[in-house]
Amino acid sequence: MDYSKTNVAVLALQGAFLEHQQMLETLGVRSRLIRNGQDWQDFVAQSREGMASGLVIPGGESTAMMRIIRDLGLYEPIKEAIRGGMAVLGTCAGLIMLDDKHLGTMDIKVRRNAYGRQLGSFNAVHEVKGIGRFPMTFIRAPYIESVGDGVEVLSVLDNHIVAARQGKQLACAFHPELTADTRFHETFLSLCATD
Ligand code: GLN
Repeated sequence: MDYSKTNVAVLALQGAFLEHQQMLETLGVRSRLIRNGQDWQDFVAQSREGMASGLVIPGGESTAMMRIIRDLGLYEPIKEAIRGGMAVLGTCAGLIMLDDKHLGTMDIKVRRNAYGRQLGSFNAVHEVKGIGRFPMTFIRAPYIESVGDGVEVLSVLDNHIVAARQGKQLACAFHPELTADTRFHETFLSLCATD
């Protein structure tokens, strides 16, 4: 795929953002790290010029990430951009950020730190709709407890929803950026490209 017209931002306030940037780089996509309001404004200004655009919200600590986006005045602009149709990929804490208690752009209810202490971190290989068997790394992961009508469930592991899509919003409880498998990011990039 030619991603030269795809403009991707990676929220880089906290957490595992560099790994996302590296994975995008592997796919030939140069992304922009968002560290403050100015970075976001520059990104949005460039997105208006006929570029397909998307935002990655990485894993990390959702409580901290939420506080920082509020402090930087990024909460409303990010929410509006997603509501306005910007593609978004939320992984782990990034998934939590999209739920009803945080940005509220996805119609999902999420349980944080859902696997308890003993299963704090684990790996699995499991089916993702539209992709196939996919390596999944979970780190103090959430899962999705319930979804609304407009949400397509993409993967269910041990009776828990671990990946879902709502329009151009793609979310997973695991960390595709920590594997060598680029297919989840390619799915996100295809959402960036569609109107
Ligand atoms: N436990 C974190 C949270 O609740 C998420 C963990 C992760 O992103 N790896 O925000």
